[in-house]
Amino acid sequence: MADPLRGLGVGPGLAAGIVLPMGAPPELPPPRPVTDPGRELDAALAALESVRADLAGRAAAAPGKAARDVLEAQAAIAADPMLETDLGVRTQRGEDAAHALHGTFDEYRRVLLDAGDHLAERAADLADIADRAVAAALGRPMPGVPAPGHPFILAAGDLSPADTATLDPSTVLALVTERGGPTSHTAILARALGLPAVVGCAGLLDAVAPGALGTVDGTTGEVRIGVGADEADAFRGRAAALRARPGRGPAGPGRTADGHPVDLMLNIGSAADLDGVDLTGVAGVGLFRTELLFLERREEPGLDQQVRAYREVFDAVGERVVVVRTLDAGADKPLPFLGLPEEPNPALGVRGFRTVRLRPEVLETQLEAIALAAEGTAARVAVMAPMISTPGEAADFAGRAARHGLPGAGVMVEVPAAALSAAALLRVAGFLSIGTNDLGQYALAADRQGGDLPDLLDPWQPALLRLIAMCTRAGLAAGKSVGVCGEAAGDPLLAPVLAGLGVGRLSMSARSMPPVRDALARHDLAGCERLAGRALAAASAEEARTAAAAGATVREG
Ligand code: PEP
Ligand code: MG
Repeated sequence: MADPLRGLGVGPGLAAGIVLPMGAPPELPPPRPVTDPGRELDAALAALESVRADLAGRAAAAPGKAARDVLEAQAAIAADPMLETDLGVRTQRGEDAAHALHGTFDEYRRVLLDAGDHLAERAADLADIADRAVAAALGRPMPGVPAPGHPFILAAGDLSPADTATLDPSTVLALVTERGGPTSHTAILARALGLPAVVGCAGLLDAVAPGALGTVDGTTGEVRIGVGADEADAFRGRAAALRARPGRGPAGPGRTADGHPVDLMLNIGSAADLDGVDLTGVAGVGLFRTELLFLERREEPGLDQQVRAYREVFDAVGERVVVVRTLDAGADKPLPFLGLPEEPNPALGVRGFRTVRLRPEVLETQLEAIALAAEGTAARVAVMAPMISTPGEAADFAGRAARHGLPGAGVMVEVPAAALSAAALLRVAGFLSIGTNDLGQYALAADRQGGDLPDLLDPWQPALLRLIAMCTRAGLAAGKSVGVCGEAAGDPLLAPVLAGLGVGRLSMSARSMPPVRDALARHDLAGCERLAGRALAAASAEEARTAAAAGATVREG
């Protein structure tokens, strides 16, 4: 039996199947002597056509608009007629197909790099297409996410948000990465796709062998590679039984056993995340991550395009609330069109609302688009800004939003300074929404993208809970709403604790909602407050969790 590997389970569920690694870029072999330049040109063009068809096929099957846009743009580059002319010149000079492709793209890449700014950023696209075309000319597997034509478990060192956004959940059975923490965007997007996922799985890529079967437990974080067919079948049986478990009772609004309301809301990246979601009892969208619509984009999205994307969401929710977060660019969510400077510590640099210092017109256009999209819809639209550190920034944002006809703008609490200034923030902002993923990262000084410090990123860290309590106290005093929209909101054991701390809105992925709803309904408000008191007084995350679990069991018993 294969030795198990261990990582962090971040997307619950079980999967078994063939494990395939992300395709590596091909190595260029030494040049071949060419006897027939025409044949080399045909081979180079055939390789380009197969790349174009592959990218176009992936675009058509892509689960979201952001992914579709990236892939369509790449397919269009591979079909550019200029390439044939340049490839013809090179093959006539005696270059074989692979070298002609490599050389042609390399030349274009240099031109773009020399041009600087936005054009230089496109060079990475060309390198990616060149790698694919050279691989096709050499008969090697395509780099990037494999497309073998059958379901598989994807194994990777790490995945960019763009890679994750292009995954097709109907063929990817599960996701396992060597790096990445519990609140990394890989983990968040995997959860939104409903894929079993494990991150921070050391030794993964060394263990993957061609054709190997594997099993993934996205709850315990256990990954086995090299299992036999019988073991894989048995695991599939367990997975099917888990999926077939009877569903929960009818969905209602979030409330404690004694009727204290806690709004249950959804985290989404586009209207597609609302497809097929039962909105009964759902108060609305608590976090619309608009940057996910435009990931990896080289050109700034136009006003009309933004209006369409936002209206799609507003139209999908009826009269519910939608909290639109303005672009949270930077760090691990690259929006190349902003032209942000390279920084040694991007998580501590110009990201989120701070980008207004460099490109204020981008925020102005976005606010205008949100206001236009909100016109004539039934949705109750609010905006909020990410990465606010000072009351001055909150006032700046609220002022800009109000000038666009969006009053009562809220701000996210994602850095400790914001929690410490919660009362002052609420003097200028309409509400607070606590992003525990970043607040945990910054309070405990632990990179959420890395997989090495999961204990520090644990949402039960008493220091994080105390920062949340500061916000809710300020919210109570100001009579304004304080919610949580980080991954902590989707933890069913933590939800009653957050309600006990005074959090009035919990925003999470659709799949997290039923267990959170059930957990809230099992406690009255006084019980939630008792659990919160125990968790706040704990000396460690483990102690906080154990204290709350013990309290929950007593209450249930
Ligand atoms: C957070 O930081 O908790 C949050 C909700 O924002 P994001 O995960 O998109 O950074
Ligand atoms: Mg954040």
